Amino acid sequence: MGADRKATAVVIGAGHAGLAMSRCLADRAVDHVVLERGEVANSWRTERWDSLRLLTPNWQSRLPGFGYDGDDPDGFRSVPEVVSFIDAYAEAISAPVETNTKVTSVSADGGGYRVATDRGDWIGKTLVIASGACNLAHIPKVAESLPSGIVSLTPTQYRNPDQLADGGVLVVGASATGIQLAAEIHRSGRPVTVSVGEHVRAPRVYRGKDIQWWMDKAGVQDERYDEVDDIARARKVPSIQLVGTPERSTLDLNTLRAMGIQLRGRLAGIREETALFSGSLRNQCALADLKMNRLLDTIDDWADESGLYGDVAPPHRFDPTEVDDSPPLMMNLAKENIKTVLWATGFRPDYSWLDLPVLDRKGRLNHDGGVITQAPGAYVMGLQFLRRRKSALIDGAGADANDLADHLVAYFKKGDAGKADDVSSHRGDAAVR
Ligand SMILES: Cc1cc2nc3c(=O)[nH]c(=O)nc-3n(C[C@H](O)[C@H](O)[C@H](O)COP(=O)(O)OP(=O)(O)OC[C@H]3O[C@@H](n4cnc5c(N)ncnc54)[C@H](O)[C@@H]3O)c2cc1C
Repeated sequence: MGADRKATAVVIGAGHAGLAMSRCLADRAVDHVVLERGEVANSWRTERWDSLRLLTPNWQSRLPGFGYDGDDPDGFRSVPEVVSFIDAYAEAISAPVETNTKVTSVSADGGGYRVATDRGDWIGKTLVIASGACNLAHIPKVAESLPSGIVSLTPTQYRNPDQLADGGVLVVGASATGIQLAAEIHRSGRPVTVSVGEHVRAPRVYRGKDIQWWMDKAGVQDERYDEVDDIARARKVPSIQLVGTPERSTLDLNTLRAMGIQLRGRLAGIREETALFSGSLRNQCALADLKMNRLLDTIDDWADESGLYGDVAPPHRFDPTEVDDSPPLMMNLAKENIKTVLWATGFRPDYSWLDLPVLDRKGRLNHDGGVITQAPGAYVMGLQFLRRRKSALIDGAGADANDLADHLVAYFKKGDAGKADDVSSHRGDAAVR
């Protein structure tokens, strides 16, 4: 395969996160390569459903040195538009991307890292893992008890309702993915039941402004990982129930219920032909309503402090989530003609190629704000609440990449892992350029 190639930094993944890091490394004159198993924006090309639009408005897709310059800042990009946007970014920053280069293993090598690929090895003094937080759909263990004859599908396999058998669909999970797919499948004429666990409710528009506008302005998205009480918990919070549509409509459980979709509690088990739901639906919904109202309180406080009163509509609250008095705790899948179960139960990264002792017992990467302390000179990007609440969003990559690129430069300049500056000394919340 030829001689090893060398770079000061080897970045794995050419999604927006790897590219944002590439730009920040270039700004600091750090020679680097970005290794990508497919094409730039591969996840958006190969793992998303047809109708998906970003749930963040166009103005919010800000990357270092790049932003939205179209005439619809409040619109929501379709998947092909996201691909074009990320492609254009890679071109604008002349990112040194090696496409169709799959990383097959990463191991320690001297003071750096050997990154083996299907097109030869790279040696990096430092390493940035930007391979994505959502490579694999999480499927709960209960799926193993699904009766034969019922198709099990994940959101990464799902494209549109045409691929589904006629008959009922059980959507497990009611976060952004679950509610969007439940609504779409229901509109295709198939009866849909949604199993609802913990979820985060928010209106699309509040007081005349997009909820993301409020969360951005009020500093909610900038909340730092070392400022929250329980970061482990914060990193597990499900995605907000939101959808991006031209009508800017809210999609929550009340909307689904009004459409005729059945709501049930968390899927607790499957016994022969019967799905068993927990009795927690009412509590889960009450909790989500409470948390939504807390968010709206924060927004109202910020609006008052900022003197916005009069420029925006007055504060108000939304109807609580409506739940049946005693929703059924069982569903006979055969009798209800359920033909498909869609597991909208979250995503997780794939580190099967990572030969470094940096994973915990559950296979999660140990890191401190993106600094992989057990592997000096190694960093990770794009994970949920990595350094800020917005870290996993397109809009979060810039500030994180700036911080971590500073840390990386300090690390290799000192040439001594033990002396690397702590990232907290680079805390200055560098502005996205
Ligand atoms: C359904 C869905 C909807 C989302 N909607 C929004 C939204 O509206 N707004 C928003 O801001 N964010 C959204 N996100 C979150 C986030 O923006 C995306 O997950 C985004 O793709 C993450 O970018 P990334 O660069 O971190 O990872 P990815 O885009 O996944 O990029 C990682 C890259 O690494 C490559 N790679 C992985 N393994 C290897 C390997 N072994 N060798 C070489 N290359 C490898 C992959 O091919 C991929 O191109 C959404 C996520 C999902 C799943």
